Amino acid sequence: MKYIIVTGGVMSGLGKGITTASVGRNLKNKGYKVTAIKIDPYINIDAGTMSPYQHGEVYVLKDGGEVDLDLGNYERFLDTELTRDHNLTTGKIYQTVIDKERKGEYLGKTVQIIPHITNEIKGRIRRIAAKSGADVCLIEVGGTVGDIESMPFLEAVRQMYREEAPENIAFLHVTLVPIDSQGDQKTKPTQHSVKELRELGLTPHVIVARCKKALTESTRSKIALFCDVPVEAVISAHDSADIYEVPLQLENEGLSNFLLKKLLLESKLEVEDTSWKEMVVRMNNCTGKVNVAIVGKYTHLEDSYISIVESLKHGAIETGCNFDITWFDAEAFDDDSNEVEKLSGFDGILVPGGFGERGTEGKMLAIRYARENNIPYLGLCLGMQLAVIEFARNVAGLEGANSSEFDENTPYPVIDLLPEQEDVVDMGATMRLGDYEATLKEGSLAESIYGESVITERHRHRYEVNPNYVDRIEESGMIFSGKNKNRMEIAEVPSNDFYFASQFHPEFKSRPGRPSPPFKAFMDAMLKKSKDKKDQ
Ligand code: GLN
Repeated sequence: MKYIIVTGGVMSGLGKGITTASVGRNLKNKGYKVTAIKIDPYINIDAGTMSPYQHGEVYVLKDGGEVDLDLGNYERFLDTELTRDHNLTTGKIYQTVIDKERKGEYLGKTVQIIPHITNEIKGRIRRIAAKSGADVCLIEVGGTVGDIESMPFLEAVRQMYREEAPENIAFLHVTLVPIDSQGDQKTKPTQHSVKELRELGLTPHVIVARCKKALTESTRSKIALFCDVPVEAVISAHDSADIYEVPLQLENEGLSNFLLKKLLLESKLEVEDTSWKEMVVRMNNCTGKVNVAIVGKYTHLEDSYISIVESLKHGAIETGCNFDITWFDAEAFDDDSNEVEKLSGFDGILVPGGFGERGTEGKMLAIRYARENNIPYLGLCLGMQLAVIEFARNVAGLEGANSSEFDENTPYPVIDLLPEQEDVVDMGATMRLGDYEATLKEGSLAESIYGESVITERHRHRYEVNPNYVDRIEESGMIFSGKNKNRMEIAEVPSNDFYFASQFHPEFKSRPGRPSPPFKAFMDAMLKKSKDKKDQ
């Protein structure tokens, strides 16, 4: 097994995740089987209990793992499916060690960070890498070098470097090169962060320097000299127009060839896989523009909806058009129902997933607006549940209908807990998570956009459409075109041009070059809407 260990210096938010994913993609293009592990040095067991306000989106894997959004980047760039084991947290490591201690597995020894915690970290990394069957395993250590939290992980990978042959591990350090008011590129922060890394016994083999502009030759040689790496190991990762350009940029800089040399690997393929490059060309050739309104709750932090934005992009690339997102805070509609008129000029309206009552009435005003004005509508999870409630209230005549999540005393709980879920109390175990199948109705929009009759998508929800109201709602013109036994997976309003709402989250399986079918169809519908408007 070959390992590439990615650390970050200077500050957070430099794009370590995208760098890791891009390195992986380039190695995959050369014929290697690549996997990736994200280390998050926080004490939470997983991201499931973390607020999207603080931490960005909770990404959901096929096995139901609720993980850091970087795993979404890995899945998209590597076009792979990972499992919850690929996200290591301090919480998971300590929990295992403490459980072992309670069972007496340490035979009376004092249980310590070194060696017990570090052994657990190394053991897990090696097991996950081996199980994946990959040639190369990327490990991204979250946080910034120097943080107290990440120390045990850095110590563990230091030990690994001692234990493995030197050609099996490469250390890649991502840093920042700021530009001062004179326009000079400053290398001091990089020098200091490499010094900090060295104090922990780690020596970077490659330095990826994030900078607003391409690194100058003198910046490169200065970093090489002061950080003790060859000049070709200083990689300029200057700002690019789109994250999907990053693999191409790093390839141009010779990064993967340098890593292959360090790891004593040769390209496996005669001809490289160029599908990523072709996808980027298609992306840059997109013409025209559609305007989509996203009506949500965490709209001030775009990372909260990163997979949705990426999925729209995947759809747009294959539709051949550009798109603009306008974010609406649903609460603004709650407060003033005239506000919803602002949605009139949009080619499509999307209501994403969410929890809690706040903003739900506003989201329903937006959904009603889409339905009544025949604006393409895509509803995801909560966006589907609210679509059902809105329809029940305003079309099926079930006044006061609601979800029991928001109103326990509603006369019509059209969204409710199914009996088998009512008594779950442990956070993290309460939800229906990960892959489940849905059977699609013949002749439905769902069947036509998926082109198959049974699909598998990822889930993250606790409440469901109440089966007792299904007939009543269907009689009024909304159909449930995707089902899993008594669970409603998709709602459509066939009298509208495009109205598709799913209990699942299709955004987690969308990939560049292989868009999620609902997103592709939504993009097509929006493009048609915008053309129709122009023709009028
Ligand atoms: N709050 C809803 C539920 O728990 C929807 C969840 C979501 O949108 N992810 O079922």
